[in-house]
Amino acid sequence: MIPASEALALLREGNRRFVADRSTVATSSHQARRLDLVDGQEPFAIILGCSDSRVPAELVFDRGFGDLFVIRVAGNVVAPSQVGSVEFAASRYATRLVVVMGHSQCGAIIATLEELLGKSSTQSRNLRSIVDRVRPSVETLLSGRTVDDHEALMREAVRANVRVSANHLRHGSELLEKLIRDDGVRVVGAEYSLESGVVTFFDGVEDVEQATGA
Ligand SMILES: [Zn+2]
Repeated sequence: MIPASEALALLREGNRRFVADRSTVATSSHQARRLDLVDGQEPFAIILGCSDSRVPAELVFDRGFGDLFVIRVAGNVVAPSQVGSVEFAASRYATRLVVVMGHSQCGAIIATLEELLGKSSTQSRNLRSIVDRVRPSVETLLSGRTVDDHEALMREAVRANVRVSANHLRHGSELLEKLIRDDGVRVVGAEYSLESGVVTFFDGVEDVEQATGA
């Protein structure tokens, strides 16, 4: 079992290699690793990220087969099946670190903002289920302000949405609450920059650094 603090350090190191264009996973033997994993897995981190094709979790953290348990959904929103996926990995594989990772220029956030500003509306009930989960955090940001700096608003909205998803995972499941209380599971929020490739961990990080990883 890899404690949350160590898992976070591994992700940071991997992202540094990726940003420096010194990724190592692409040159390693996938077939040997694949065979090693046939009988079981022990992923050291759970990543809840966006489905956006520009944000492949394994690549931005320079990790390969068996390392990350990845859940991807547009807007990295948390619905019951996402909570269930995190519960599954954390309880079955003893994975201690959960990362909710949003990203700049996220289409789901843009769609929600446009809807709230009256520029468009979502017709599909299914698509609406995603926008509706992003909406409350963005609505809070919009209340009582004028939208003069759209870029700044977009950046804030991405982070607000990550914070809400991370909090939902911390407090929306009895099983996860127990794993957090008794077993050193930690949930952190992060943002990936399409522009720089850098992942910034900005929510719940101090708590990981203090975690014993028991
Ligand atoms: Zn996105």
